[in-house]
Amino acid sequence: MPFIDSHCHLDFAEFSADLSAILGAANRLGVMEFVVPSVSADNFATVLRLSKQNPTIHHAFGLHPCFMSEHCASSLTTLEQYSVKHLPCAIGEIGLDFFIEKDPLARERQLVLFEAQIQLAQQLNLPVLLHVRKAHDQVLAVLKKVKFSSGGIVHAFNGSMQQAQRYTQEFDFKLGFGGAITHTRATKLRALVTELPLTDLVLETDAPDMPLANMSQAFNQPENIWHIAQVVFELRTESAAVIEKQLEINTRNCLSLA
Ligand SMILES: [Zn+2]
Repeated sequence: MPFIDSHCHLDFAEFSADLSAILGAANRLGVMEFVVPSVSADNFATVLRLSKQNPTIHHAFGLHPCFMSEHCASSLTTLEQYSVKHLPCAIGEIGLDFFIEKDPLARERQLVLFEAQIQLAQQLNLPVLLHVRKAHDQVLAVLKKVKFSSGGIVHAFNGSMQQAQRYTQEFDFKLGFGGAITHTRATKLRALVTELPLTDLVLETDAPDMPLANMSQAFNQPENIWHIAQVVFELRTESAAVIEKQLEINTRNCLSLA
């Protein structure tokens, strides 16, 4: 049963030297497919090229809240054009990051951009890949306002059990867990992975970011999905085979991967 990395930035510079070696190492550990979100209109073409060159790479287009300085007035138009012309598996990576951004006006700009992208995703009937830090209630309010119904993944989920249940039950989202759960001090995250229904979970690395505990590589890589999965196997009561199969189904269904 193959693993899918539901969130990795294979277009980033760390991977440009030898992407085929990175993918080969992942394949050897059973990590067979890769979802690559965009962070700004500047990298749409690169992400699209990767997916055209490799059928195991699935592209998504979005304007990331941590890259506000790279977005301009025409970025939303570019996003819409790319999304209509080159059908992505999702709109992403989009969201709100109120952990790094404290300024109320800058937060408002993130919110306006986020809502516009949620509306676009709803209009195109596409799921979304969400980046949310210290802003789950604000994101949930936007989903409710737009009556968002295409689902998606809350990547690197770090909210409460109650917020997790709102995403999954009210808006049909999956929650992405990655390297953070390999750290034994991450008790809150590990409790979520243990207690949430298996049908709510997907795996991700967020490579090259989000290092694992005791990681030997210089930067995170999709092959580490295997290590993340071992932690999920330890935490949960179902058999490894059942978990592995369900995680694959979750990712495939929510992003309509063939
Ligand atoms: Zn990301």
